[in-house]
Amino acid sequence: MSNITEIFGSNVFNDAVMKERLPKATYKEIRKTIEQGENLNPATAEVVANAMKDWAIEKGATHFAHWFQPMTGAAAGKHDSFINPTDDGKVILEFSGKELVKGEPDASSFPSGGLRATFEARGYTAWDCTSPAFLIDETLYIPTAFCSYTGEALDKKTPVLRSMEAMNTAALKLLKVLGDTTTLRVVTTSGPEQEYFLINKSDYLQRKDLRFTGRTLFGARTPKGQEMEDHYFGSIKERVVDFMKELDTELWKVGVAAKTKHNEVAPSQYEIAPVFTTANIATDHNQLVMETLKKVALRHDFVCLLHEKPFAGINGSGKHNNWSLATNDGNNLLDPGKTPEKNISFLLFLSAVLAAVDEYADLLRLSAANPGNDHRLGANEAPPAIISIFLGEHLVEILESIEMSTILGPSTRKSEISVGVKTLPLLAKDTTDRNRTSSFAFTGNKFEFRMVPSSASIAGSCFVLNTIVAETITQIVDKLAKSKNLEKDAMKLVGELYSKHKRVIYNGNGYTDEWIAEAARRGLPNITNMVDSTKAIISKKNIDVLKKHGVLDKNECESRYEILLEQYSKTIMIEALTVLDMGRKQILPSVLSFQGSLAGNISAMNDIKKSASTATATKLFDQLTKDIDLLDKSLTKLEAAINKADADHSDSFKHAAKFRDLVCPAMLEVREISDGLELYVDEEFWPFPTYGDIFFETI
Ligand code: ADP
Ligand code: MG
Repeated sequence: MSNITEIFGSNVFNDAVMKERLPKATYKEIRKTIEQGENLNPATAEVVANAMKDWAIEKGATHFAHWFQPMTGAAAGKHDSFINPTDDGKVILEFSGKELVKGEPDASSFPSGGLRATFEARGYTAWDCTSPAFLIDETLYIPTAFCSYTGEALDKKTPVLRSMEAMNTAALKLLKVLGDTTTLRVVTTSGPEQEYFLINKSDYLQRKDLRFTGRTLFGARTPKGQEMEDHYFGSIKERVVDFMKELDTELWKVGVAAKTKHNEVAPSQYEIAPVFTTANIATDHNQLVMETLKKVALRHDFVCLLHEKPFAGINGSGKHNNWSLATNDGNNLLDPGKTPEKNISFLLFLSAVLAAVDEYADLLRLSAANPGNDHRLGANEAPPAIISIFLGEHLVEILESIEMSTILGPSTRKSEISVGVKTLPLLAKDTTDRNRTSSFAFTGNKFEFRMVPSSASIAGSCFVLNTIVAETITQIVDKLAKSKNLEKDAMKLVGELYSKHKRVIYNGNGYTDEWIAEAARRGLPNITNMVDSTKAIISKKNIDVLKKHGVLDKNECESRYEILLEQYSKTIMIEALTVLDMGRKQILPSVLSFQGSLAGNISAMNDIKKSASTATATKLFDQLTKDIDLLDKSLTKLEAAINKADADHSDSFKHAAKFRDLVCPAMLEVREISDGLELYVDEEFWPFPTYGDIFFETI
């Protein structure tokens, strides 16, 4: 495409448009707010609103929407038109500063975890001017934060913005201690790689499990799966190429810098990654990527599956959140440079990450928890549920030498550091297998958090990382602020932090049982499921750190705990009801029909003559009778499990734990019996497309 540069950002009210359309003074004001986080004055908002409206209308917009990300995980927005009736029976198109800055959607239908009673329906959306407005179809979308009447965050975005402030404050302090007087702002950057599946729409429509839950709840193995590994980075099929082309174009229009695309390991699995940007914009953009994937897929008669584990026995999907820190001059604070062993700033920021990830591993684990990821973390495709850091040999070598010289005393320190320490190759990319198994890997100049669920917002992982690292940076500042010999004290601290937190570093293969045993010996938490992980957001230590940095207060933490548990129970409930529905209304009747037809055949054959084939048919008939009976019993058992789990709602944790312990195994039991049947029941009778149909017959 020759005109990418024209297409890119053409539907975004971006800096270039503002520069062109706003009076100089207003433009300066708004830049100040965006870059330095200063308060926005109402007069500025008024002028911006007007320019935004004119721009949008020229491009065909009729409506505007405050776009926000409630705790459901999907973006939401109420669409209002620009029209305002006049006395003469006509309309004028208006959009005021007030309308730009504040919206008032009815909050009662969004999860609030008890923060807001339904009768206090008020919720507000507040314009986030740090993420530019954009146009899709006829609507101007204005990114906003969503909060309650009393200012508590009801969304995913607000804590990201708050945590970026916390990080800015902490990082600037450390830079100042290090003698940096020019940096004005530090931002967190994020580049999420997104995995997804594309399947034929016709297959999707025939499977209630995919339609209701986003994943298959039944499905036997196929003769061919992903064992040949012939899909990964393979040539992309034409229909998919067309899809990807359109996807890129749609994303470019709204300013998402979609860059990388390729086949993934599983059949029908793909990945898209944009160029990184600031964490708040990356959060919005990832939401747009997910929405656009779904929308464009339909135009090509595909359905895009974002679920973490749509198919059993086949790799699931994740999201890699690449994360770093940058100054307003574009300086990457996690860039080791050519001589990392001498780069005190880098070593301190690196140590802060090391300490934060070790101290707050449970909170980070929670940020990657959703019901779908329970099927993925720890399986052979994704990092285990244990949080560990991959640093690579070179950095470990450097840190080891710093640690040793600390112990040996300052006199030998300098020579020790420079002796035998190799410099880090500037492009130390994670190309090795070993490295790909780590949950949190240093990849040259950023960290890659690999546990994030494919369908989830990156907001959770962003705000947790920002907060915990802001905390450890603050602790470093406290230790070094009064230092008389900064270089010496800083190196000593790097060594101490390494000593204390090196247990979280693991450069080996994270997929092995040895690592699980080793991690247990090291005392690292291994939280294997979402329900248990939710405890992290109500532990005192974690509430304290979130509160201290102004990211979430105690109420907000508690409400999120409730929301997460409720989402877990509801998700499993929907899955279980779908299993019952498909089991009773589709699988059982189909298998009975097959048995009926077999019975007819047997009797017909008997009329002719008892033969060997009658014996085969009878054997099959008897096997069916056994399995049908088992299937029926397992469905009854599942129903009982659902009723038992759902009987008592008084304690959300216990409620969710019952779904995990009673309902999940009961669902699996139904599946195992059904999948066994699928392997020998006449395929003409099977009621919906099989894995084989989905992966190998149609695309
Ligand atoms: P890989 O598959 O090797 O992990 P990709 O190129 O697919 O690498 O994705 C790497 C992602 O990391 C991209 O989205 C890229 O923009 C992002 N990234 C690169 N540098 C930074 C940074 N400093 N901060 C945040 N993200 C970054
Ligand atoms: Mg990656």
